[in-house]
Amino acid sequence: METYIRISGIIKESIVDGPGIRMVVFAQGCRHKCPGCHNPETHSFDGGTLVTVDFILEQAKKNPLLDGITLSGGDPFEQAEAFAVLAHEAKKLNLDIVTYTGYTYEYILENASRNKGWDALLDETDILVDGRYEESKKTFF
Ligand code: SF4
Repeated sequence: METYIRISGIIKESIVDGPGIRMVVFAQGCRHKCPGCHNPETHSFDGGTLVTVDFILEQAKKNPLLDGITLSGGDPFEQAEAFAVLAHEAKKLNLDIVTYTGYTYEYILENASRNKGWDALLDETDILVDGRYEESKKTFF
């Protein structure tokens, strides 16, 4: 059976979203409302595009230089079951997983039993970048 994920977009190649060369998948849907959020268009749970996990994996397979996939947002933990499937399949392609979330690691651990897929997505994640965006910690270059 196909697994579907609602995404706001994909960047096919990035060197600023984790180690090495990465494909970035932006989840559609976020509840955190961080002041200064860079991706407000990703907040609606009705927006974006519904795609299959296989579609995303096919994009990844086209680039032999990829080191991994970064799950960004939006918040991937709002669709944790589907993103866990994507991450699991990506591992079979020797791609590692960086996951961004507005939830803290501690909150995820405490609430995993009440949220489908949270444990699974955490298990499949190699690097978790957690917590809400804090505009006050922004640096200017
Ligand atoms: S978690 Fe990310 S996408 Fe969601 S409001 Fe915060 S910065 Fe924006």
